[in-house]
Amino acid sequence: MIALHARSIAQQIGNSSAVGAVAGLLERALPVRANSLHVLMYHRVASPSERPDLHPGLLSATPEEFEVQTAFLASSGRVVSLETVLAAQRGEAHLPRGAILITFDDAYLDFGEHAWPLLAARELPVVLFVATAYPDAAERHFWWDRLHVAVDRAASRDAIETPAGTLPLRNREDRVAARRAIGSALEALEHAVALQALDELCVSLEAEAPAPAVLSWSELDRLSREGVTLAPHSRTHPLLGRIALEEAIEEIVGSRDDLAARFGTIPPTIAYPGGSYTDELVAALPTRGFELGLTTRRGRNTIGATDPLRFNRVNVGISSALSLIRTQLLLLRR
Ligand SMILES: [Zn+2]
Repeated sequence: MIALHARSIAQQIGNSSAVGAVAGLLERALPVRANSLHVLMYHRVASPSERPDLHPGLLSATPEEFEVQTAFLASSGRVVSLETVLAAQRGEAHLPRGAILITFDDAYLDFGEHAWPLLAARELPVVLFVATAYPDAAERHFWWDRLHVAVDRAASRDAIETPAGTLPLRNREDRVAARRAIGSALEALEHAVALQALDELCVSLEAEAPAPAVLSWSELDRLSREGVTLAPHSRTHPLLGRIALEEAIEEIVGSRDDLAARFGTIPPTIAYPGGSYTDELVAALPTRGFELGLTTRRGRNTIGATDPLRFNRVNVGISSALSLIRTQLLLLRR
């Protein structure tokens, strides 16, 4: 409840014209460092009521909010393509001051339905990171969506056995708390062990699977032809820091190969699932042809100074109203 209340206050502040005016003044007053790049990280654009079977934590914006954000981004004249970022990293191009790269992870259906039409209308370039084991695989679902459905729709009970211990599922607060606790417990486990534990939980709660949630290969093909840049996000979306090195390399290279087999040349860029990687994995990527790696760590990048295989991003969550995004970008300038 406290978190929800704080979110609604943050949204009100973020939407207020006073904060927008202050952000505008600061944008004009504060210097922008040369070669600076912000990478915005989105997941889903949809209204919360649209797909109640999917984990609400992945919502980045409603379509209405995203339209306001795209208007601002287009008017800034600072949005660049991944191709331009790669060229700048190779010393073959210069970025505009205060450059911004827009990225979407996980290739949910609503990217095609809501996000891309708004981006395309303003001719904004975008990168979509695809976990390539999921398109056209009806039986596969992201673990966080399976967990959400299992806990959200389970019959009310006083206690269930979970990977996070014995928890009650009596009301909405219990369910939100249980989903968080179980999610954290699963993330701490080795990937295969976590999936096994989730399978057992789903059986014990008699959970249904979520409906299809990600874009099919034919939809990805259409988006690619319309101008969306597709890039690898692993095959099965494991936390790469929690699996064996060879397996992690195979996940990344396999994902790139899956995309290349369908779409030809793929940008040598990986978004690490869940922001998880190891130093050994990063060290192994250049010889596999990778030039950029995107983490989920919050921050700005400086071309030539930031490790290109550990670029920072700025997450856009449902509470990140436009003015808050602008303020974050400003604070990260320094
Ligand atoms: Zn992801």
